[in-house]
Amino acid sequence: MGYYVSSKRMDQIINELKKEYKIYAPKRFKNRGWKPNTDLIRYDEINSVSEIIYDEKSDFSPKEVFYPISQTLLYFTEDNCKESSIDDSKNIILFARPCDINGIKRLDTIFLKNGNQEDNYYKRLRDKLKIFMLECREGFDNCFCVSMGSNQTDNYSAAVRFEQNGLLVEIKNNEFKKYFDGEISRNFTPEFVQSNQKKVNLPKIDSTDTLKKVYSLEFWKDFNDKCLSCGACNTVCMTCSCFDTRDIIYNETSLNGERRRVWSSCMLEDFTIMAGGHGVRNTAGERMRFKTLHKVYDYNFRFGGDEHMCVGCGRCVKRCPQEISFSDTISKLSEEVAKISSEKKASTEVTK
Ligand code: SF4
Ligand code: SF4
Repeated sequence: MGYYVSSKRMDQIINELKKEYKIYAPKRFKNRGWKPNTDLIRYDEINSVSEIIYDEKSDFSPKEVFYPISQTLLYFTEDNCKESSIDDSKNIILFARPCDINGIKRLDTIFLKNGNQEDNYYKRLRDKLKIFMLECREGFDNCFCVSMGSNQTDNYSAAVRFEQNGLLVEIKNNEFKKYFDGEISRNFTPEFVQSNQKKVNLPKIDSTDTLKKVYSLEFWKDFNDKCLSCGACNTVCMTCSCFDTRDIIYNETSLNGERRRVWSSCMLEDFTIMAGGHGVRNTAGERMRFKTLHKVYDYNFRFGGDEHMCVGCGRCVKRCPQEISFSDTISKLSEEVAKISSEKKASTEVTK
């Protein structure tokens, strides 16, 4: 079912929707970019369709809407503990691109299907989410969603295409039909990007023996000088899910406080530091090895299917202050893996 809705009329519909939903979309924050005189595009609540930045990629992913940067888990006093709650009055509409919608599926797997226990703090916000897909008719710089198979999705309640002075809207979830009843009917089925400028080859690691050789590659050492271990790549990533827990005491003389979950980053120097000061990944290269394999090998190895954790949004490539291209890192790893495989094949033939 499709409609044409003028921007003016869409603002009225947004006003109606806001009675029942909080609406989040990518918004422009003037002069807040990490480079001088640049803007920041990140997710925030909107009141008007004119606030939605649809023709640029957001710098931050939509995950901060339902997996907040800092989230209170529980409150404690000296002898008591109370679980936190969330504002339950409204559900959430999230405008998100196809790669990010696929990224939400990756986070669902990590938080809801990873062991016997669902993560309640994730679930209680995730359950509120209704997705309005922002159609991508062309990819942006650094996108490699097609290589990652995350350029398409049917996992949305509604889809929108921005046109001059209005929008085409497809409604899939009947919950939203009443808001668009009476609008101009128009055939509209969203399209998906079928090719990106950036293409990535995925590594084919087919045995533990190959994995061990990958682990010892010299190639990782190149990152020891290049990577600053700043963690910016993890922060903008749609699928990075690591967190730390912090106990915050309200003042020096009391034991009252709260426990928060805050985003963390596998690229930070102290991420693996344990009691006694022992760390398991002590160089930037070792951390890059962990991140890369996690994104294009470990997740798939653990959960099966044909999905990798990385959805090819390319945000980490744009954000890296050292211009380290994660897409090129994946392709370079694939070349190294191919070399390992052909050397193994050659040595097997010699011993026959
Ligand atoms: S690793 Fe980079 S390209 Fe892949 S999902 Fe994360 S930010 Fe996007
Ligand atoms: S790859 Fe780039 S963004 Fe990521 S930790 Fe290293 S320097 Fe920072």
